[in-house]
Amino acid sequence: MTSCATPRLDAAAPDHSMRRGACPSLAKPMQTGDGLLVRLRPATGSLTPAELQALAVAAERFGNGILEVTARGNLQVRGLTAANVAGLALAIGKAGIAVAEGVAIETPPLAGVDIDEIIDPRPFALALREAIAALDPPLKLAPKLSIIVDGGGRFHLDDIVADLRLKAVNTDDGVAWLLSLGGTARAARPVALLDQREAVPGLLAVVRRLAAMGDTARGRDLDAEVVKDELAGRARPPATSTLAMESAVPVAGLHTLADGATVLGVGLAFAQADAASLTAFLRNAEELGAAEIRLAPGHGLFLLGLDRDAAAIVQRLAFSLGFRIAPDDPRNHIATCAGTGACASALMETKAVARLMVEAAPELLDGSLTVHLSGCPKGCARPSSSELTLVGAPSGYALVVNGTASVAPSAYTDANGIRSAFAHLGALVRENKDAGESARSCLTRLGAARIAAAFEQG
Ligand code: SF4
Repeated sequence: MTSCATPRLDAAAPDHSMRRGACPSLAKPMQTGDGLLVRLRPATGSLTPAELQALAVAAERFGNGILEVTARGNLQVRGLTAANVAGLALAIGKAGIAVAEGVAIETPPLAGVDIDEIIDPRPFALALREAIAALDPPLKLAPKLSIIVDGGGRFHLDDIVADLRLKAVNTDDGVAWLLSLGGTARAARPVALLDQREAVPGLLAVVRRLAAMGDTARGRDLDAEVVKDELAGRARPPATSTLAMESAVPVAGLHTLADGATVLGVGLAFAQADAASLTAFLRNAEELGAAEIRLAPGHGLFLLGLDRDAAAIVQRLAFSLGFRIAPDDPRNHIATCAGTGACASALMETKAVARLMVEAAPELLDGSLTVHLSGCPKGCARPSSSELTLVGAPSGYALVVNGTASVAPSAYTDANGIRSAFAHLGALVRENKDAGESARSCLTRLGAARIAAAFEQG
């Protein structure tokens, strides 16, 4: 991954394919249902409040006025035209925002300041980025290839899918990097333990192998035994004791950093914020001392620089502007894709349906499960399986129980029936839940047939 202060646009051409493998950067925006989409990540991993305000203003001027933070913690601007992407790029350059380019190398949102971190992963991520960028000729890699470099900590990236994952682990010989292939940390195949001095050359060898397999090859396509052979002499076998993991702490809330300072985490409701709300929020936060913004997976933002009292004030302001501020906000537990108006493939207004679900079926949103609302069977917002997935269909909505958006649904309802379908699902949990039982456990116990029957009562 390289970076540039002023994004290059000389070769800019919209990608009209709308393929999921496309990477909608500033130089190659992607065509969607509401115009062009640009996804970007700050090269430094953080923004100042003023920089994010400038981006929000630019999203209003050149796009549809909505700024999104994706499930991976990237920024998205929608509703652009081919003619005004250049204006957005200029505004970004003028604001002094350096945009990361090339292979995505991701580190946890609070890298370097996380209180439980084993090591700051950013120096290694930078060395790897520079080593890949220096290769001549450049490697041709899959556009969406991602490498996670995770120093551990409370806000680790274990639940984020990656092609290659390096996770810091403590060993008798000091900190080492556990390399695993494909999937989330739980699903990935661990292949090697690399000492710090061997990690960059080791990763380069694996990345070269991927490139040799073709420009669509992903981490899941790598043969673990071949990679182990490739790294023989550089790496140790991974110890199974290094694989235990806990869930990351939810972003929303007040947290303490390694130096004792406070950080405020907020979430964007259904992944979006309008420019006016975001600029008002950031302006006030900056006045109260916020100095740095870190984008966070799960559609979140961290604000650093506030003292505890100021953070509490900014948190209340965030709540009043519609941001998510608490781990138990029911909106935390709904994953939505862009939906109609923002994606040409969508058959569901996902954000509106999500609001309806919060009103009609709060019993489902106790945090024990994530409900996935998908505009079509592609399931962009959540490629993995969910307990409940609602998929837009030509004649209404399809419900998938324990599956992804692409599997055969268990039940249908038409557009008029969706509110009462949600209400019946909520009632199913409310009336059958044992004391202390979670919605997830209750639904699992009741089974897919009961869930489908309740949904179709709508
Ligand atoms: S899942 Fe949503 S965002 Fe993805 S293609 Fe379908 S409608 Fe579009």
